[in-house]
Amino acid sequence: MLTKNQEYEMCIEDMGNDGEGIGHLDGMAVFVKDTVVGDRILVKVIKVKKQYAFGRLMRILEPSAFRVEPICPLARSCGGCTLMQMEYGRQLAWKQDKVLNCMKRIGGIAQAETLMEPIIGMEVPEEAEFPAIYYRNKAQFPVQRGKDGRIKIGFYAGRTHDVMDTDRCYLQAPVTETIVKRIRRFLEEYQVEPYDEGTHSGLVRHILTRTGWHTGEVMVCLVINGRKLTGRYQGAACNVEQQLVDCLRDIPGMTSIVLNFNVEKTNRILGNDCRTLWGQDYISDRIGEIRYQISPLSFYQVNPQQTEKLYAKALEYADLHGEETVWDLYCGIGTISLFLASKAKKVYGVEIVEAAVEDARKNAVANRIENVDFFAGKAEEVFPAQYQKTGERADVIVVDPPRKGCDAVLLDTMVQMAPNRIVYVSCDPATLARDVKVLVEAGYVVERICPVEQFAHNVHVETVVLMSRIQG
Ligand code: SAH
Repeated sequence: MLTKNQEYEMCIEDMGNDGEGIGHLDGMAVFVKDTVVGDRILVKVIKVKKQYAFGRLMRILEPSAFRVEPICPLARSCGGCTLMQMEYGRQLAWKQDKVLNCMKRIGGIAQAETLMEPIIGMEVPEEAEFPAIYYRNKAQFPVQRGKDGRIKIGFYAGRTHDVMDTDRCYLQAPVTETIVKRIRRFLEEYQVEPYDEGTHSGLVRHILTRTGWHTGEVMVCLVINGRKLTGRYQGAACNVEQQLVDCLRDIPGMTSIVLNFNVEKTNRILGNDCRTLWGQDYISDRIGEIRYQISPLSFYQVNPQQTEKLYAKALEYADLHGEETVWDLYCGIGTISLFLASKAKKVYGVEIVEAAVEDARKNAVANRIENVDFFAGKAEEVFPAQYQKTGERADVIVVDPPRKGCDAVLLDTMVQMAPNRIVYVSCDPATLARDVKVLVEAGYVVERICPVEQFAHNVHVETVVLMSRIQG
């Protein structure tokens, strides 16, 4: 019997879906955060359930051969980089396994092993100070007032809403650090009140930054609980929007300074409305040959080096020859649609965020791509309605849904439309496998599965799956 609060010696034999280590004591699985497969540890049992238990890492008795010293001093407490203490090659192997297990166990794809391509990881140059850092093009920093009265900007500690104060995140483009430092100074100087979740009062909720990997363009979006940015100057309350602009505009690459209004009591970061304070309403970037403009509210893949590889894989799987009609469902700002358009006869994209659809249309025009049409609305509504109206079939359908996966109605319409190929791009292997199972039961076979790294040091993994219709 395991006893709560007792310490035990244990080896970490496996790792769970959230990156937590798993060992066994008395035949019972024990989950321990901050451990790496291969560690021998001293663990304190903190909770015992019927089938399993949770423990706290007290001491590493013998480190795993895969253990490395994280470059970020906050790695252990921060909720973001759960895997940073594991050697990068091993992180990739773990993600490969995670996808394989989901496809086998949830998807029921018995032969998944033979269909899997090796995960496409990030390149790690020899001279790199640490593998796979500074890769993200988007950051969202919550802002809070700490118990000591000081402003805290940073990241939530794992499984909490307590902000750990920091200027630097090692995953972000380096310019982000300058932005955070300057906004911190600005908030203190003009006594701008951070938002308080508990009382739903105060003003500044989040700082959103975006950078164009190829263009170097920078956007700062301050999310506020109100419609005006106010603070105090020489003792009096006043509008400090111009002061914010003055504190940021000379940062190299600065292109867009925006306010976003989120007055709801919600965990959602962004509200629906923005007002540009300075510069453009968007930044630009390119993927391959295609240039994109990106508004604050639009989704854009966060790892530009890997996005190019992800889309190349999707394009390879789509296997277009110029005559095909293609649907790109959950299309965002039309990134995949425009990537596919030069190889297809016609591409239709559907996306729920209006601002993203506007971006998509402008992006098509700016790249002189004429064989695409975009629809704003829910994919599960627009796509069936269009099919009913026109009866036009698709040869290839690409889907790239959010983590919750595809809506059942959408899967149903896909099956009715009976495209020859379905390319499923997914950021959650569990919902991917669930949806793949539905499609297999409806007459599709899985041809290829390729995991693609997008989120180094974090537990998430992207996957592309090619399915084709059994003829006859
Ligand atoms: N393919 C794009 C976007 C993928 S992210 C890219 O690679 O950049 C998923 C997108 O689905 C987001 O843009 C999100 O706004 C959109 N979305 C979420 N729910 C939706 C729904 N029900 N119908 C259509 N789009 C939806």
